[in-house]
Amino acid sequence: MTVFTRTKRFTAKLNRRIGNPLEWQSSSKSMLLGVVTGLLYLHYAFLAEFLLLPGNESVWVDSAYLARQIPWFYGFIGLSVLLIIGTYLMHRLKGDSVLFEYVASLYFALSLSYFSYHIGTLSLPVGSVLVGAPVVGFIFFNRTAVMLALFVSVIIQLVLSFGAAWQLWPYAPIFVEGARQLVAPSAFSVFQLYLFTFPHMIFLIFVSYLVLRRWRDREERVRLLSITDPLTGLFNRRSILVHLEQEQERSRKKGPALSLLMVDLDNFKTINDDKGHEAGDYALIAAADALQQSLRQNDRVGRYGGEEFLIVLPGTDRDGARRLAERCRQQLESTNVVLESGERLTLTGSFGLVCNEGDVHMDVDELLRRADRAMYRAKDAGRNRVVIDGE
Ligand code: GH3
Ligand code: MG
Ligand code: MG
Repeated sequence: MTVFTRTKRFTAKLNRRIGNPLEWQSSSKSMLLGVVTGLLYLHYAFLAEFLLLPGNESVWVDSAYLARQIPWFYGFIGLSVLLIIGTYLMHRLKGDSVLFEYVASLYFALSLSYFSYHIGTLSLPVGSVLVGAPVVGFIFFNRTAVMLALFVSVIIQLVLSFGAAWQLWPYAPIFVEGARQLVAPSAFSVFQLYLFTFPHMIFLIFVSYLVLRRWRDREERVRLLSITDPLTGLFNRRSILVHLEQEQERSRKKGPALSLLMVDLDNFKTINDDKGHEAGDYALIAAADALQQSLRQNDRVGRYGGEEFLIVLPGTDRDGARRLAERCRQQLESTNVVLESGERLTLTGSFGLVCNEGDVHMDVDELLRRADRAMYRAKDAGRNRVVIDGE
């Protein structure tokens, strides 16, 4: 294998593991922002340590003041680690929540505001983060959370800038007096700067907000279209198989049982032949609804083929799956399809069930083969029943 193919395989594997950051859970995005903030402060801490080494002093930097700030830099590194661990634990305990994004973006805004005070609020780095961070934020984060963090940051920047202009506190105190005087703003310059910057800033942020909102909505629509079956609204064949693969992998690695149900509607061809294709379509939608209604939160049903469905039951052993399959069968049987003409149809299905539990860890192909075989046994035994692989 060449280095090139190996690298390609590695990046493909990495891509599969990381997935699309746009689809990440709130907790993962928030932890990433925690990592970014931690790394920024690590960078500031190293820079400060470097400047404080004998012989590296800068004539522009107030070394004594910088030395007093270093504990704060490490403090923010520690806080970022706490944020990451806290988010991880809360996510495990309570599940995902958009609140994580609010906390992480506010933390990002406040910690960088602290730094902006030290290097000067009216500086290029502060300005570029103030405009750049919300634009990137709109792509990945909850938009209201980004807006809130931006609002808080702008207020802090205004207070810090005017306070320095009116000499309530020093401007850019990390620099020596002489350097500071070169950049220290007057009330006039602060006012003038914000007056001319704000319209641009508001325009830029507002336009990027609108454009990115459209783009994100479209991304979401395309994503939904690519994973759903247009007729029934269930997961399509590809996405239910991807889900099955993920659950099989999880079950193999971490041990929970995994059951798979294959369902084929009985004598469906006669519905098409007798009542027409449209009635068949209508019946398919009703069958999909009936199956979905019988499932629990973590179960997933997809349309595997024409009138065949696949139901993935994570963390479900043979007995649990047997009960659930029976519930689905009864629900299907009791579904009354009322056609436009007023005619009523009844539906039944044949169910094949296979289970990975204990030491049994069949791969996806084997699971599908056995579920299919069990389903055909249900057909042979007279239809409208559940047959379990190996029984
Ligand atoms: P069995 O009980 O043995 O499964 O009998 P069956 O008639 O259901 O089996 P068969 O596989 O021969 O027929 C499946 C039929 O499902 C054939 C096809 O016309 C119909 N079908 C598949 N997809 C669709 C669809 O999207 N819409 C409609 N209306 N019919 C479909
Ligand atoms: Mg079929
Ligand atoms: Mg059929």
